[in-house]
Amino acid sequence: SLSLYEILEQTAECYPHRLAVIDGIQEVTYVELKESVDFLAGSLHASGFTKGERAALMLPNCLEYIIAFYAIQRLGGIVVQVNPLYKDAELEYIVRDSNTSWFIGQSFQREKLKRMGLVESLSIINTDSAHEDGLYYRIGEKKKHVPQLSIDTADDVSVLQYTGGTTGRSKGVMLTHDNVFANVYQDLQFTSNVLDLKRSSEVMLGLIPLYHVYGMGRMNGAIYFASTYIAVPEFQIETIISILRRYRPTIFPAVPTMYIALLNDPRLKKEDVSSFKYCSSGSASLPVEVIQQFEQKLGIHIYEGYGMTETSPTTHRNPGTWKRKPGSVGIPYPLTDAKIVDAETGTKEMPLGEAGELIVKGPQVMKGYWKRQEETAKALRKGWLYTGDLAIMDEEGYFYIVGRKKDLIIASGFNIYPVEVEDVLYQHPSVAEVCVFGIPDPYRGESVKAVIVLKKEESATEQEMREWCSERLTPYKVPRSFGFRKQLPKTSVGKVLRRVLVEQERLKMN
Ligand code: ATP
Ligand code: MG
Repeated sequence: SLSLYEILEQTAECYPHRLAVIDGIQEVTYVELKESVDFLAGSLHASGFTKGERAALMLPNCLEYIIAFYAIQRLGGIVVQVNPLYKDAELEYIVRDSNTSWFIGQSFQREKLKRMGLVESLSIINTDSAHEDGLYYRIGEKKKHVPQLSIDTADDVSVLQYTGGTTGRSKGVMLTHDNVFANVYQDLQFTSNVLDLKRSSEVMLGLIPLYHVYGMGRMNGAIYFASTYIAVPEFQIETIISILRRYRPTIFPAVPTMYIALLNDPRLKKEDVSSFKYCSSGSASLPVEVIQQFEQKLGIHIYEGYGMTETSPTTHRNPGTWKRKPGSVGIPYPLTDAKIVDAETGTKEMPLGEAGELIVKGPQVMKGYWKRQEETAKALRKGWLYTGDLAIMDEEGYFYIVGRKKDLIIASGFNIYPVEVEDVLYQHPSVAEVCVFGIPDPYRGESVKAVIVLKKEESATEQEMREWCSERLTPYKVPRSFGFRKQLPKTSVGKVLRRVLVEQERLKMN
């Protein structure tokens, strides 16, 4: 196995002049990237950076993120991932929880740190400053010396990655070097042969945020595979189209909301995406309708997968050669075990086709939660990670995620999985987005509610939606109430914040 810095080192040695990163007008080769990384590491070492220290990276997708990421890795530091859009309190929580001592970000973030009284305790490096506090200033010092380090890839933490915060306060996940590298390797093993991916020939469209585990993991995959990584800081359709036309990217890791937005934009043409070989989706369920429409309209297949922050992030994906099953998250990655167990006891295995809690085991499973022993013990039992997700396995070993344990709706004693109802509503031609959840009901315990965002210029009534569902679902699954909204509350990677939506709906009821 390799430490994360060694991934870059190896590629820079084998493919020095291959283009490594494109970021706007900046283009750097692997040997140039490594040189910047080494100089930054030299400068940080000279300023006293020691192994195991935490360094927060609070940046959009950009070259400087990648330089800083590997410089910290080179020194055996721990990258603490921070969303650059975070407001004061969110930033403060992560900085304090992780006990971070270094901060690398754009200068405007300093105001947030100042307001939270964090400036004194941090060494701050700004990516956009030409002065002594600047990243490029440090690189320009050309300090070469870094200590000889021994990194225990199986035990040393490389990244502290906070969970999405969908179900509660986000937790710091300790990912070791081996965890991250294992997933890079598994992803390649699983896809490269069948999808005809070639080392040093691929181009990744880097739109999924690097501060998110999915973006960080796949970026390491791009570096390992000597691909060219195109850093895209935000979802802007014109920019994306011009990148597609100019650089012809072949690999596109993304999330469902990105595919939905691309699909619904008339400016995107089939030719624009014809260079794609490997489009992957994960982090939330991808409606079958979207996969099918994407294939019909744009001629591109999306390989849906499943994973979580705790698994660096992927454990399952739909394979390229074997049968692909829309609606399924596919089969486990190489070296990954997965089982469906009784959601109550967590031990007894469920019969085929019956829903239970998904548990997984493999080299990509986290070391544990940062400073949360109790939660770690609950999630990791005898090497198995309890995902908190309910799933079904079919007779061919394909997995279907039916929802989170916490999202299961129980109405009059019937179990209802929101995703099943959502999938039906996604088939409705006027529906752009939908979220289904349970609301308290004095008679049934809970009842089903659907909140819908209609496509632009479409209209639909509650009655129409109810009929649509009634024709396609058993009566107890049909939402009893519908709401229409302009948009849904979402996390930074576009995942619907159910928790927030449900709270808002409950407040409305009172
Ligand atoms: P938190 O753990 O803080 O509540 P989170 O679980 O949303 O937040 P992540 O680790 O980013 O944070 O997300 C992992 C979760 O995303 C999984 O447990 C699962 O519920 C969901 N998920 C990921 N991929 C899929 C998929 N393909 N289909 C359905 N759900 C998915
Ligand atoms: Mg989670």
